[in-house]
Amino acid sequence: MNKKVYELINDQINKELYSGYLYLSFADYYEAEGLKGFANWYLIQAQEERDHALIFRRYLLDNDCPVVLGAIAQPDMTFTDYLGPLEAALEHEKYVTSLIDNIMAAAVKAKDFRTQQFLNWFIDEQLEEEANASEMVSNMKLFGGDARSLYELDREYLGRVYTQASPLAGA
Ligand code: MG
Repeated sequence: MNKKVYELINDQINKELYSGYLYLSFADYYEAEGLKGFANWYLIQAQEERDHALIFRRYLLDNDCPVVLGAIAQPDMTFTDYLGPLEAALEHEKYVTSLIDNIMAAAVKAKDFRTQQFLNWFIDEQLEEEANASEMVSNMKLFGGDARSLYELDREYLGRVYTQASPLAGA
């Protein structure tokens, strides 16, 4: 594998684990605020991010490339209102999209067609992640000011159930 492509993918394992760590901190915030549905949504999101890390890990191993795990940064955001984590999540997902795009650009430059094919799943996934994060911001802006509507939103997010992001994450 091209050195640059390899380094970016290995780094992405760390970034995905950090995303999971970040969303776990969001879940903790909502749990403390008594919004168990929002806490549930971000707890599941954290599990999905771990899946993403495992998919990149599996890809490196299948290509006989060593996985080098680094330290995961501390999530240190503090929030003053319910909208805060939702806006931070949208911003973070846009950042992750830029990371995936960077890996794709390196794979294109290296004529690494296998990695391009592999990354297509993540390109699609990022569209979904951004759309979900954006909808959560809109919902909070529209309905978050009213206690009954906020309660119903929280119930809705309580209904989210974890499903493995891809069979690749299980190996
Ligand atoms: Mg991810």
